[in-house]
Amino acid sequence: MDVIELLPRLHLLRFPVGQAYLWRDDGELTLIDAGPIGAGRPIADAVTALGHTPRDVRRVVLTHFHEDHVGGAGEFAALSGAEVLAHRLDAPFVRGERPGPEPRTEEWERPLHAAALRQLPPGPPLPPPSLTELSDGDVLGFGGGARVLHIPGHTDGSIAVFLPAHGVLFTGDTVAAAPADGTPVPGVLNLDRALLLASIRRLAELGAEVACFGHGDPVLSGASAVLRSLGAAPDQPTGTPASR
Ligand SMILES: [Zn+2]
Ligand SMILES: [Zn+2]
Repeated sequence: MDVIELLPRLHLLRFPVGQAYLWRDDGELTLIDAGPIGAGRPIADAVTALGHTPRDVRRVVLTHFHEDHVGGAGEFAALSGAEVLAHRLDAPFVRGERPGPEPRTEEWERPLHAAALRQLPPGPPLPPPSLTELSDGDVLGFGGGARVLHIPGHTDGSIAVFLPAHGVLFTGDTVAAAPADGTPVPGVLNLDRALLLASIRRLAELGAEVACFGHGDPVLSGASAVLRSLGAAPDQPTGTPASR
């Protein structure tokens, strides 16, 4: 796993498949997403290498239920005692009560979907010991007040997290950077692409400077303008595949 400093308070944790972000406030940490199955221990090691202890991580905020984002959440919660949070509509799948819905793949996305599934460790993930359910408009106690935005489309319970005090936005898989050249693109392998584009338009209005995507390199300046251009994409994509 690679650990990349993006800002003094923000690190990107990059796994062979999937990624997560670590936000640092004075004296406590917050993890955004938790990587695939098996990521719990490497995340704890990364936290230690950065001079903290896993217990300093107070919460794990999950952007949606897909396994490359929640796979390590239960493992890491068991190691750290961190609270795990997800939107209420994705919560049953994070808890492992039943499998989540498969994406409604376009023809061109099918090989991509198959490849994504092949790369993931066999499941199911260890469910978190408990799960706090989130709704649109919730404000979480980190990053100077972290706003939860319900942005359906990729999944029904997808969320973004925005830190107005820092201009930092976590988009989950609603936006990705294309693996080929790092260009930001609307997320793929969605339940509803039109809804996803409407969600991107909502994100574009936040005035974010930094946008951290579910896959690929973040945008570290001028994020709102980038999101505005993506939100204007056609409902039927011709575009570049990214990743689940
Ligand atoms: Zn993903
Ligand atoms: Zn996803």
